[in-house]
Amino acid sequence: MIALLQPARLYIGNILNHYDFASLSLKSGLRNNLSSLGYEHMTAVQAQALPRILDGVDLIAQAKTGSGKTVAFGLGLLQKLDVKRFAVQSVVLCPTRELADQVARELRKLARGVHNVKVLTLCGGMPFGPQIGSLEHGAHIVVGTPGRVEEHLRKGNLKLENLSMLVLDEADRMLEMGFQATLDAIVEKMPKQRQTLLFSATYPDEIRAISKRVMNKPELLQIKEQHSASTIAQSFFHVKDNTERAEAVARLLLEHRPDSAVVFCNTRRDTEEVAAGLRDYNLNVVALHGELDQRARDQALVCFANKSISILVATDVAARGLDIEELDMVINYHIARDAEVHTHRIGRTGRAGAKGMACSLFGDRETQKIERLAEYGQLQIRPAELPSPAVLSAPGYKPAMACIQLDSGKKQKIRPGDILGALTRDDGVAGKDVGKIHIFDNCAYVAVRRNVADQALRTLTAGKLKGRSVRVRKIR
Ligand code: ADP
Ligand code: MG
Repeated sequence: MIALLQPARLYIGNILNHYDFASLSLKSGLRNNLSSLGYEHMTAVQAQALPRILDGVDLIAQAKTGSGKTVAFGLGLLQKLDVKRFAVQSVVLCPTRELADQVARELRKLARGVHNVKVLTLCGGMPFGPQIGSLEHGAHIVVGTPGRVEEHLRKGNLKLENLSMLVLDEADRMLEMGFQATLDAIVEKMPKQRQTLLFSATYPDEIRAISKRVMNKPELLQIKEQHSASTIAQSFFHVKDNTERAEAVARLLLEHRPDSAVVFCNTRRDTEEVAAGLRDYNLNVVALHGELDQRARDQALVCFANKSISILVATDVAARGLDIEELDMVINYHIARDAEVHTHRIGRTGRAGAKGMACSLFGDRETQKIERLAEYGQLQIRPAELPSPAVLSAPGYKPAMACIQLDSGKKQKIRPGDILGALTRDDGVAGKDVGKIHIFDNCAYVAVRRNVADQALRTLTAGKLKGRSVRVRKIR
């Protein structure tokens, strides 16, 4: 983690002051504790967000995973906290119990220099009764998942009239998980006079929409980090003709066996041909192009996002709005029409500090485009060698997850927690084997580890969701 934060420190060079925690007006207890935690300098998002947060403004901060967002809001809410007033003064909402636990741990560490700060977690999947007891004992800060926090609010266990700060952490994921209505219900029970902070790794339209509803004249902070040569390894491969081109894609995929890869094509026809060609090698692939109907498109994107499909073959237009973290590999079937599009394509890999791989195929007719790319990206492009053709006889590989579709969704008031609960009841599957859950109006998708897919189907078929039985099927 620390290594990841290094570049920001190198880059700051002569403006170190600005990145020093000492430049902030923090309570001395909070500040002194920071160096004992080994936090010497602020990360980029902390340096830019903290002064604004301490000023009391509503802030939307978009920064990639691992950039230090927890410390940014943690210091903000601890600074604002009045320990003598024993009432819930801030609420932090997180998409999952694991993340809530992580945030609560970090807050407790940050609060070590302040006496008697009480942090309480309220998460689904945990016994309800003891949480009521803890709430009766009182707390300063509540960290929880939306469903459970809403339930305590609705039942009157949690009172928020002293609340002065709300933090939505990983807001994009909360929305993806279908928590929008729950968030609205929670916010409705909060004082209007409060500071609201929203943290997110991405900034889709849904975030813009919810920020309009729950925030007051929010400022937007986007920390865009340059993709450096060290996080994206770019390779270029020369091919003679289209037969070689199609085979080259298969060789790259069978050699590297990525969990999530996108093959970019310049035309819709290419996407279909490439996808069909890859299926012949027993690869798990779906083509995405502008002529798919909405349903098929949603389904393809869901399956790719929940890792039940490893390879997406797409045109640039179709891939717009695709926001997948942890893409292992991008393959350019042809070189993109212009250098900017190329940069955009390869920027989808190597996210979150993970190592990404970008492979581009080019023929004799594309040398001009290659020259322009080299100039645009200040690159030296030398063709690399493709993996040996021997990999073509390797068996194809299957994705880690399988995707199950349920015939109920938002309209039937199904929430992610309902599906998770139905899957993990007594004779069901383990929580760790359940992946992403996506909920649409009239259907839902849940990913489970491939080896427990049949058990998951049986459990869902035998059980009930919101009191009624559901029809389920495994996708493909
Ligand atoms: P994010 O929420 O942006 O994904 P986190 O808040 O989880 O990131 O922080 C990532 C890691 O960086 C954590 O292990 C945290 O302890 C560490 N970290 C945060 N701020 C600093 C800092 N100023 N100096 C060194 N490490 C830090
Ligand atoms: Mg975080």
